Amino acid sequence: MKQRLSILGSTGSIGVQTLDIVRENPDLFEVNSLVAGNNWELLARQAIEFDADSVVIANLDKYPLLKDALASYPIKVYAGSDAICQVVQSSQVDVVVNALVGYAGLHPTVAAIEAGKKIALANKETLVVGGDLVMGMAVEKRVPILPIDSEHSAIFQCLVGEHSPLRRLIVTCSGGALRDVPASQLKDVTPEQALKHPQWRMGAKITIDSATLINKGFEVIEAHWLFGVDAEQISVLIHPQSIVHSMVEFEDGAIKAQLGTPDMHMPISYALMFPYRASRPSERFDFMANPTLTFAEPDRVKYPALDIAYDCMRRGGTAACVMNGSNEVAVAAFLDGKCRFTDITASIEYALNHASFIATPTLKDYEASNLEARALAAEFLQLK
Ligand code: NDP
Repeated sequence: MKQRLSILGSTGSIGVQTLDIVRENPDLFEVNSLVAGNNWELLARQAIEFDADSVVIANLDKYPLLKDALASYPIKVYAGSDAICQVVQSSQVDVVVNALVGYAGLHPTVAAIEAGKKIALANKETLVVGGDLVMGMAVEKRVPILPIDSEHSAIFQCLVGEHSPLRRLIVTCSGGALRDVPASQLKDVTPEQALKHPQWRMGAKITIDSATLINKGFEVIEAHWLFGVDAEQISVLIHPQSIVHSMVEFEDGAIKAQLGTPDMHMPISYALMFPYRASRPSERFDFMANPTLTFAEPDRVKYPALDIAYDCMRRGGTAACVMNGSNEVAVAAFLDGKCRFTDITASIEYALNHASFIATPTLKDYEASNLEARALAAEFLQLK
């Protein structure tokens, strides 16, 4: 039987690549619902091509345009964030692919788990913000959460078939767009420079998060929740070639790594097809074209956000939610030319120093904490 998908963020980098997998495997998947933020034109084209049952556009202003574009098709059209939580709970959905960006991904994940849906998770902010709550719910509802993030997919692949405890997770890191820029010049970096990721073509927010290494900090927190591993057992290793997607070290000293071309189609298809693999005949790794794999320690002085993420993970509660909320505001401001690159991490530090802390938050507490963090970052950056 085909798996019926609800794809959240279908117009984004991960969403579009997820639809490539669906297109390549018409016998395995069908699209039930598609969700986007603003890009109603692409959403309408996708809905028509994949014969979706329903679509949701988060931005209410775009609803009339989307409704008009789909007027002659039997596709249900909804708008607003509540509608996202409703479509994922449909009895016609088997798997929810969450490829939204930012805090906006948390509530739909929770709604999907409540309805017992299998989750293919790209939206790492779901676990950064609410990992404790989300993983607790997933265990209670026996809902599998399969990682799409390439590092976590790699770790997951290394763990399949293992029954012994692991010693350490080694999360690899390209170093982002600014890895060769000296720390003293970071304050003058432009959005164009920071958006030039050396290996991956991704959405703007994660590309900036990669340049600050906040993305890597978030991935450490994500790994902590997905694999139940403490901060002390997760290390980060710079690997500029992005061929080794991450590694697991076991108690006997053995290290398993997952390697391949940097291409998100692989982890997306693995999350959707597990325990099977996609057939992608054109994908052949050429060792001779990649003869050198190098590794280095991250520069924790140049990239203070990495240790901030570790601190948030150790503190637990709403700490990482504050880090995430303030980061979202600061990244948007940087992309908008309203602050310097180095203000991103400074905004997070300010928010963490001033925000209230709740040790065992509910979903409502996360909502309040996110709003408080956003307001604190705006205050620090003097945004109107
Ligand atoms: P993009 O910015 O490319 O896409 C984000 C998607 O979410 C778009 O479809 C966008 O719609 C939609 N969206 C944004 N805000 C909202 C909202 N408030 N409500 C509903 N829809 C919204 O992001 P990526 O695909 O790069 O990343 C998605 C997630 O996957 C992130 O959490 C990222 O960290 C993670 N990830 C991404 C990787 C990559 O290679 N891109 C790799 C590993 C993880 P629209 O464009 O129409 O406004």
